[in-house]
Amino acid sequence: AAADLGRLAAAVLAQVRDVVVEHEEELGNLDAIAGDGDHGIGMRRGVEAAADAAAQAAASGASVGRVLEAAGEAWSERAGGTSGALWGSAVIASGLALGSRETYTNEDAITAVTAFVGAITELGKAEPGDKTMVDALLPFREAFLGEFDGGTTLAQALTVAASAARAAAAKTAELRPLKGRARPLAEKSLGHPDPGAVSFGLIAERVAAYIHS
Ligand code: ADP
Ligand code: MG
Ligand code: MG
Repeated sequence: AAADLGRLAAAVLAQVRDVVVEHEEELGNLDAIAGDGDHGIGMRRGVEAAADAAAQAAASGASVGRVLEAAGEAWSERAGGTSGALWGSAVIASGLALGSRETYTNEDAITAVTAFVGAITELGKAEPGDKTMVDALLPFREAFLGEFDGGTTLAQALTVAASAARAAAAKTAELRPLKGRARPLAEKSLGHPDPGAVSFGLIAERVAAYIHS
């Protein structure tokens, strides 16, 4: 039923919260190299609010679309910072893409992933190679769509896409930041991965593992 998928979405948000909390300090330290050091705390604030809002919506029987909308709104509102606005809009966009139906197909998962990534590129306007989370998001989307074309399961497609995101996040160490707060200290950032790309890779990996289990 629709409420079961709402509860699944809330359970996924709880996993996202847990992985962010586990890596809060590491993400803050990474952001302190060339940014302002608040990526860990900002992500934690946003995702805690999002997970709470999702749990509340799911408990009242909301659909997957409504749960994600509530979560994304709370995320933007509470996180502050660039990444909070981007994550919030992406979670809302995937909720709007999924809506409130009884059943979903693989095609809907593709639509949701496309909406998630599209919201971030539209709002943030970062290009590939600017050293932002977009450098992990685009390889994630490409791997996800490619796997589905090959006819695998959602869990398998997410697992392959999450590995692609993790690898791409690590590779951002080679780049100089061209967007966001880290730009003025671009030279210091060389040799270190982008915090937003790293957090996205960690989150993708956790969600894939959860869906797989
Ligand atoms: P702030 O920069 O406001 O302190 P955070 O530290 O939480 O926010 O997030 C920083 C991350 O946000 C960067 O590592 C980068 O991945 C991401 N980011 C910054 N600007 C953009 C943008 N225009 N488009 C996409 N991602 C961006
Ligand atoms: Mg920051
Ligand atoms: Mg900041």
